[in-house]
Amino acid sequence: MSFDTTVVIPDPASGRDAYRRHARQWLAANLPDYMRSDSLNYRTPTLQESSAWEAAMYRAGLAGMTWPKEYGGYGLSLREHLVVNKEIGSLPMPESVSSIGKELAGPIIMAVGTEEQKRTFLPAILAIENYWCQGFSEPGAGSDLAGLRTKATQEGDVWRINGQKIWTSGAAKAHYCLLLTRTGTVADKHRGLLMFAVPMDTPGIRVVPIKSIDGKESFAEVFFDNVIVPDSARLGAPDEGWDAAIRVLSIERATNRMYRPWRFECELRQLVRACLSDAELAKVLDDGYYQRRIGQIAAEIDGLKGLIEAVVDHLMRDRPVGALGSLNKLYWSECHQAFAGLAMDIVSRVHDCSSPLARRARKHFTTAYLFARAETIYAGVTEVQLDIIAQRILKLPMDVQK
Ligand SMILES: Cc1cc2nc3c(=O)[nH]c(=O)nc-3n(C[C@H](O)[C@H](O)[C@H](O)COP(=O)(O)OP(=O)(O)OC[C@H]3O[C@@H](n4cnc5c(N)ncnc54)[C@H](O)[C@@H]3O)c2cc1C
Repeated sequence: MSFDTTVVIPDPASGRDAYRRHARQWLAANLPDYMRSDSLNYRTPTLQESSAWEAAMYRAGLAGMTWPKEYGGYGLSLREHLVVNKEIGSLPMPESVSSIGKELAGPIIMAVGTEEQKRTFLPAILAIENYWCQGFSEPGAGSDLAGLRTKATQEGDVWRINGQKIWTSGAAKAHYCLLLTRTGTVADKHRGLLMFAVPMDTPGIRVVPIKSIDGKESFAEVFFDNVIVPDSARLGAPDEGWDAAIRVLSIERATNRMYRPWRFECELRQLVRACLSDAELAKVLDDGYYQRRIGQIAAEIDGLKGLIEAVVDHLMRDRPVGALGSLNKLYWSECHQAFAGLAMDIVSRVHDCSSPLARRARKHFTTAYLFARAETIYAGVTEVQLDIIAQRILKLPMDVQK
């Protein structure tokens, strides 16, 4: 697999349109047909193929946009990041195999890491030389993250870690874990939490894959049994873990995968095109009931675009995103879950589609439908986002019974 390596990245001074044109042209010329989920040649790319694709995107100036140049980034603003994300979203390409590294671990290392950690980890993340997983949730600590029990004990200049994580996406392929631990007791709640960058090949770490409803094993339980790491694996000071975790969650809810509404729109176009290619499915689209439901989703996608622009605007003015992140998480997850449900409903109306495009769409939307069940859970369940909106945006009184 080879990609255009003679890339000329536009000078940001030449304007955002130049960057948009560059992103659009490069992606159109280089995205392999078999990676397009709307192509009849589609097949799931291997990890190596996805990594090579993402590394090429980075070399073409389409990743690491906002990261400082000294750590391998392009030193641009969130505006260029958004411009590129719109182009990425407009194509039916695979999700990143390194989004935890690029969008969660990278920013937190940049914020609290030492100079050595920044120079070691950041360029390698962008070049897709290593993958990260996020070890936050535990069997008794998901929404109530402050109840986590995984214990880190300092012994001279090393730390001993014992405990268990669960639902750790990408753990089986990860080289490093962004691990949240506790140095005190569970009663300390959000005090005494400490974050680490733990190499996943450290003795004492055991990864047990979990099979999800779509048949994939993309997440896992991770056990830590007397895992010893040097003090240099610590990210931030002891006691700073909660603040670091909240930063990670706020990135996850506000700016992670900013391309979503443009990708949802792309999926909607794929659905309509596939239906119109099949005589029986085309009749479903003729039905006013389905037309209204599609119209509703299209309107929600447009609203979500506005929300993303508002988040970017806030961040560009150095204003904290705060509960806007929860609005965004709530909105995209509910919108996409509803859309995937509608798409599944439509493509299931006809048993034997005659059109190959419609058969491809049925496969795509079956997978999307199953995965969308998790969208209102990961990165914070819907109920928690609603609580945050009620309390922080609407300033409603807290439910004292909780
Ligand atoms: C696909 C997927 C990938 C994931 N990847 C990762 C990962 O890489 N790393 C990681 O650390 N975690 C990961 N998670 C875990 C995820 O963050 C948690 O599942 C999530 O935070 C919810 O925690 P929980 O599962 O313990 O559910 P709980 O917190 O027990 O919630 C269960 C239900 O209780 C209700 N509830 C909970 N709290 C409240 C509240 N305050 N108000 C009202 N109702 C409430 C809600 O109905 C909720 O759905 C992943 C999860 C999924 C599904």
